[in-house]
Amino acid sequence: MKKIAIIGGGAAGFFTAANLGKELGSQTVLFEQSSAPLQKVSVSGGGRCNVTHACFDPKELVEFYPRGKKELRSVFHQFQPGDTMEWFESRKVPLKIEDDNRIFPVSDNSMSIIECLMNETEKNLVEIKLSETVQKISKKEHSFLIETKSGSYKFETVIFTPGSSNKSMEILRNLGHGIVKPIPSLFTFNIKDKRLKDLMGISFEWAEISIPQIKMEAEGPMLITHWGLSGPGILRLSAWGAIELNRLNYEFEIKINFVQKEYEACCEFLNEFKLENGKKSVYKINPFGFPKRFWQRILEITPIPTDLTYSHLTKNQLEKIASELTKGIYQVKGKSTFKEEFVTAGGVDLKEINFKKMESKIVPNLFIAGEILNIDAITGGFNFQACWSEGFIISETLKNEFL
Ligand SMILES: Cc1cc2nc3c(=O)[nH]c(=O)nc-3n(C[C@H](O)[C@H](O)[C@H](O)COP(=O)(O)OP(=O)(O)OC[C@H]3O[C@@H](n4cnc5c(N)ncnc54)[C@H](O)[C@@H]3O)c2cc1C
Repeated sequence: MKKIAIIGGGAAGFFTAANLGKELGSQTVLFEQSSAPLQKVSVSGGGRCNVTHACFDPKELVEFYPRGKKELRSVFHQFQPGDTMEWFESRKVPLKIEDDNRIFPVSDNSMSIIECLMNETEKNLVEIKLSETVQKISKKEHSFLIETKSGSYKFETVIFTPGSSNKSMEILRNLGHGIVKPIPSLFTFNIKDKRLKDLMGISFEWAEISIPQIKMEAEGPMLITHWGLSGPGILRLSAWGAIELNRLNYEFEIKINFVQKEYEACCEFLNEFKLENGKKSVYKINPFGFPKRFWQRILEITPIPTDLTYSHLTKNQLEKIASELTKGIYQVKGKSTFKEEFVTAGGVDLKEINFKKMESKIVPNLFIAGEILNIDAITGGFNFQACWSEGFIISETLKNEFL
């Protein structure tokens, strides 16, 4: 009988397997339901795999996690992005830090990460069973019985890393675990509004977006898409507001400031610009450096005649422009996924996990890691980092306990 079962061949499962060492690895079976493991790693980061994020202080790092912030602090003290970089680089996968601090393999190809994880797992002599869906886990006195279509297997220890499907949650529920209702995190906002119509592709380096109804705001780059708004500022709101926005059934108002100035300051700025540029055309000369089409759209809806010069801009027109740029209200109706990237908020109740070992407090010798936990982060490599750190802790715990 082999000792250890890993259920789920994704980032968390493989990183655990890759760190077990030969002695425990040779006692381990990894069950993966699909015929190809690590599929999310493969498509992640647009096929480049955003492995982690250049934030090396656990206290700062946890601020990127709407759920799991408190619990992950000790986890990152054991294994953080600097360790992730060292881990891959010492295994001949050089990494690079991009301007926005996201970290990718130098190859810009997620296959580098996949091959490394597979090689290390193979070196550790872990047996990989592909196309083997675990259907049920039952706890016997000192062992677990794992049932798949092809048979039943007995193990002393189970590492549960199956991602966030309802079926995996059900398996844990049957073992006595509490599950926080899974809901989507990381999504873009659907908005049908004449101010955005046909402007897809226009991006803003900075915008402040707030949701007055839930008193939440975020800032960052923003992008007009086919369906509404996307970009880091919007995704941040979708992650931090995941629970409240689900409660609102994804129908709410947002307020956008495009100019990094309050309304009064914006009026003053426009007034000064008007005095200095009296003879110039309002349509042609845009004081904020916005993409031309967006500036013209703002003027169209104000409305401003196309041949108006700044000297003829009335106080009322100027105030309307300032209002639109600093506190325009947009109605969101529904959500879409962002480049197919999404994560699940909700999952195993964190109170039921001992984060020093990543072990269940409900079922001894059951270890749980990855997206199945009620942990999620904004985009930027943080979701994988949680998987690497949790997987590392499990392998260290088992080495300490078994060897
Ligand atoms: C398109 C996309 C892009 C992303 N890009 C990034 C990124 O660049 N950076 C980042 O940090 N995060 C990214 N994420 C999030 C990241 O992929 C997840 O947080 C991470 O993959 C979770 O890893 P996991 O091992 O917990 O689960 P998963 O990756 O979902 O792996 C679970 C595995 O378990 C298997 N499984 C499930 N149930 C069973 C069962 N009953 N029996 C056997 N096997 C089972 C599944 O087939 C799967 O292979 C992205 C997500 C998506 C969808």
